[in-house]
Amino acid sequence: MTGTVYLVGAGPGAPDLLTLRAARLLERADVLFHDALVHPGTLALAKRAEKIAVGKRCGRHSTAQRFINKRLIDAARRHTTIVRLKGGDPMLFGRASEEIAALEAAEIRYEIVPGVTAALAASAEMGISLTQRGLARSVAFATPRIGHGAGPSNWATAIAAADTGAIYMGAGQAREIADALRAAGVPTSTPIALVENASLAHSRSFVITLEELPELASEAFTGPVVMLIGAQFAVAAAAAGGRELQIHSPASQRPLATASK
Ligand code: SAH
Repeated sequence: MTGTVYLVGAGPGAPDLLTLRAARLLERADVLFHDALVHPGTLALAKRAEKIAVGKRCGRHSTAQRFINKRLIDAARRHTTIVRLKGGDPMLFGRASEEIAALEAAEIRYEIVPGVTAALAASAEMGISLTQRGLARSVAFATPRIGHGAGPSNWATAIAAADTGAIYMGAGQAREIADALRAAGVPTSTPIALVENASLAHSRSFVITLEELPELASEAFTGPVVMLIGAQFAVAAAAAGGRELQIHSPASQRPLATASK
């Protein structure tokens, strides 16, 4: 008799953006494997669980994926309800497929619980829709990050071809991203919104253009950043007079955009 492993989306950070299903599973969990960035309020829901951090933070020491897979399997052989909590949605840049393959190979039951992905939380925070009638009919989710041993990626072409782009895991590579997007034919005047810590109290947003993106290479971001690219973000840039945008939210309210600097 083995337990079930639930790959659960934690959402973008704010505990009240968890799904009810996720919250109920956290309450029931015997063991919880979580990434480094999970909000303490989310962890607190897992009252009975043994909590194990298996964080993979960009640029920091990470627990190797194979080791995580093994620990999930070991836990399923000893417990009933195992929750593997992943930021945002587990099926988007979450390495869920590697865990699923390992669980299937070990004949462990698993279920996936979706979560609110970062780009959607960032869009909500800015109050700017990713799609807009007559202006934006397609959205591309992409990352410039290439894993060890992986082949070349056409991520920049995909962003250029879509009306709206969402770039994940790109904050440390602003210069390379700008070069790749220009080479893919994205006009330098295209607005880009950078949203750091979407859904959290200390969230920050900037709206710039592709031309200005390399200047952000030196910007010190401490939290995760998602970049949203598209004509509709010019609205936010105009509201701030082209200067740095600071958005103060509760995510549930229409954000109040004020120019600062
Ligand atoms: N599965 C996650 C993405 C994991 S990759 C999801 O669906 O959201 C990690 C990247 O997600 C970060 O580098 C950043 O680009 C983005 N991200 C995650 N949480 C975020 C947040 N609260 N605000 C902004 N970006 C975030």
